[in-house]
Amino acid sequence: MHYDFVIVGAGFAGSVLAERLASQSDKTVLVIDKRPHIGGNAYDCPNEDGILIHLYGPHIFHTNSPDVFAYLSQFTEWRQYEHRVLASVDGQLLPIPINLDTVNKLYGYNFTSEQLADYFKTVGESIDTIRTSEDVVLSQVGRDLYEKFFRGYTRKQWGVDPSELDKMVTARIPTRTNQDDRYFTDEFQYMPLHGYTKMFEKMVNHPNIHLKLGTDFKAIKDDLSFDELIYTGPVDEYFDFCYGKLPYRSLRFDHQTLDVSDFQPVSVVNYPNDQEYTRITEYKKLTGQEHPKTSLTYEYPQAEGDPYYPIPRPENAALYQRYKDLAEQQQGVHFVGRLGTYRYYNMDQVVAQALTLYKKLIGADSFHDVIKS
Ligand code: FAD
Ligand code: UDP
Repeated sequence: MHYDFVIVGAGFAGSVLAERLASQSDKTVLVIDKRPHIGGNAYDCPNEDGILIHLYGPHIFHTNSPDVFAYLSQFTEWRQYEHRVLASVDGQLLPIPINLDTVNKLYGYNFTSEQLADYFKTVGESIDTIRTSEDVVLSQVGRDLYEKFFRGYTRKQWGVDPSELDKMVTARIPTRTNQDDRYFTDEFQYMPLHGYTKMFEKMVNHPNIHLKLGTDFKAIKDDLSFDELIYTGPVDEYFDFCYGKLPYRSLRFDHQTLDVSDFQPVSVVNYPNDQEYTRITEYKKLTGQEHPKTSLTYEYPQAEGDPYYPIPRPENAALYQRYKDLAEQQQGVHFVGRLGTYRYYNMDQVVAQALTLYKKLIGADSFHDVIKS
């Protein structure tokens, strides 16, 4: 059959565009994913014990965009959840982002917020131009806290020293002088009440949307008939790596279920230093599910494997720019999403990016107009 649009990838980018094009613009859409399921990296499913887990690591929804929140709320109810993370440092579990309690507990101080602000001024290193992920943290909290909380974690996670990574990586994590121990301060922080996959099912459940899962686009592209293509896979792969490979960081997920109901005090505990894994997630504490057993995921960073993280470094940005220039020359092909645009984007940013592309495709005037049902 002939389709108005073929969309490669059934993650947030692909599903949002399929949903909008089908339900609002009456377009016929074929969504292809090489994985056997929808949802991309946000896919969740019950494991063999019936505990809802995230197959590709913990996904916590947070946004400051009322539009993104309103858009997704058409497809799910929400569970209120504010994310809190502890880091295992020097034998203690301490709040990360670093806050007043982190410093007082780590060093046995009794600082007030004002005293901590003064302390950070004393230990923070003076750096003229903040360029790297090392600069960000050293300038804010000084060398000791940098080494205990950031250097080891970042080297494990990215396979390079923080001094070789763009500042935006560690700048994701703020420094606080109060006792706020939330990981995010966004206005909207929720988990989809019945999980991400149920939300995606509602999005793509439309007579104009056909799904072809477990299929690589490359294998079938010559047999497809369509007007326009939306591509959310790795942009370098689309162009057969003609300028060389864009570096991505991968992860190995070790999923485990224990015969105890409770494992750790919060949903995520980070291990900056002493372990090969970066963090352990306990899903029941994200989802609120009650169960006599508990399921965990250990994340082991690695170079090879599925591309999970674009690596923000100047030379990679330069290489991506070449692919972007090539992408812009293609007629009727649109690149979007974390892999399609080589951006370290959170879910809400990908939804916004996809809605923006939809707005462009239909020539709408306002962003607000494109989120309505
Ligand atoms: P993806 O979800 O990667 O979807 C792309 C899809 O394209 C994939 O399913 C892939 O199989 C398919 N594909 C690729 N190539 C082909 C091909 N040739 N043929 C067919 N199909 C193809 N964000 C948050 O906001 N909060 C979080 O807590 C959070 N935690 C994260 C934790 C981890 C471990 C990771 C890796 C990411 C996390 N993210 C989080 C980011 C979030 O996963 C992404 O922003 C979002 O899923 C990106 O959606 P996407 O559609 O761009 O890409
Ligand atoms: N980070 C760190 N120590 C921590 C938490 C984060 O060094 O305890 C750094 C690390 O470089 C990490 C980055 O901050 O990759 C961003 O952390 P975030 O939790 O946002 O990563 P993600 O959830 O995207 O993997």
